[in-house]
Amino acid sequence: MGLIQVLDEHIANQIAAGEVVERPSSVVKELVENSVDAGSTVIDVTIEEGGLAFIRVSDNGSGIGKEDCETAFERHATSKIASGKDLFQIRTLGFRGEALPSIAAVSKVELISSAASSGLGRRIVIEGGKRLISEDAAASKGTEFTVRELFFNTPARLKYMKTIQTELGHISDFMYRLALAHPGISFSLKHNGSLLIQTLGNGDVLQVIAAIYGKAAAKAMLPVEAESLDYQLKGYISSPELTRSNRNGITTLVNGRYIKNYGIVNAMLRAYHTLLPINRYPLAVLDLQMHPTLVDVNVHPAKLEVRFSKDAELSEFLEQTLARTLKGKVLIPGAGPAP
Ligand code: ADP
Ligand code: MG
Repeated sequence: MGLIQVLDEHIANQIAAGEVVERPSSVVKELVENSVDAGSTVIDVTIEEGGLAFIRVSDNGSGIGKEDCETAFERHATSKIASGKDLFQIRTLGFRGEALPSIAAVSKVELISSAASSGLGRRIVIEGGKRLISEDAAASKGTEFTVRELFFNTPARLKYMKTIQTELGHISDFMYRLALAHPGISFSLKHNGSLLIQTLGNGDVLQVIAAIYGKAAAKAMLPVEAESLDYQLKGYISSPELTRSNRNGITTLVNGRYIKNYGIVNAMLRAYHTLLPINRYPLAVLDLQMHPTLVDVNVHPAKLEVRFSKDAELSEFLEQTLARTLKGKVLIPGAGPAP
């Protein structure tokens, strides 16, 4: 026998899981993004012990058809792309078909889903990648996904987890971004029984900003709206007297997807120029729309980083737009709001 062997599927799945499922917040991200892709208008997340003990995501989306529930846990099984060509035209948050098998490989998973309003659906239980139950079950339309004892079979990974507070911080941070990205969806997040986030889902970003950062912050926001040949920009940036000690209050969305991009943040900071005190940062929600061919989202397993094909033009557009927004909108201390 030679030295090289093909890994059995079970181990291969655990390794792939390492990339997709880094911590509890990655599970929440993958599940909630699936709920968004399914067209849900209400998405409720319940977690316990920072998500390490229990994560449940329920939605009122399209549901998964009976015949698809088992397939959904196969590697590279997706309903979102059909050919390589589609990779350049991605409009959904997911597309790799890796999340469900990866999550199921490192936790105890229960899926209850129905694609019909008949009250009937399917229930699947998988532990550590092994399917234990697959049966018809009572279910309302939509999906309920429960993940218990994350990393129960990968102790090395479990040991690496930070405190419950830290894991919860990652989860709520993600939920903030998603709620800002989808003001038309009502989100809630409950941790150990207490309600941490509740958005209305009425489509008003400013209301989401108020729900997350407080009413005073929402009042200090300046609306942004601009269009160029390639880009459409909408959102809010804080007037310079509302600042924060770090960049976490800057949310950038590209075609509805929350991303991190230094180019965008730097263009924003250049627009503020000397208006910000040193080491202070604005609060902002920028929603950029562009043709999917202008942005490559297939560069990072968590899909958090993207590459723009016209980097310099985009930076220029942002800086000019935001500088224009800020110009003349600076409140003079004691003088009250500008007209
Ligand atoms: P991807 O999102 O990349 O397609 P996933 O592994 O996350 O891959 O999900 C596999 C498939 O399962 C999805 O393509 C979708 O068809 C189905 N699915 C998963 N979650 C949901 C959900 N909440 N509602 C409806 N369908 C879902
Ligand atoms: Mg997915």
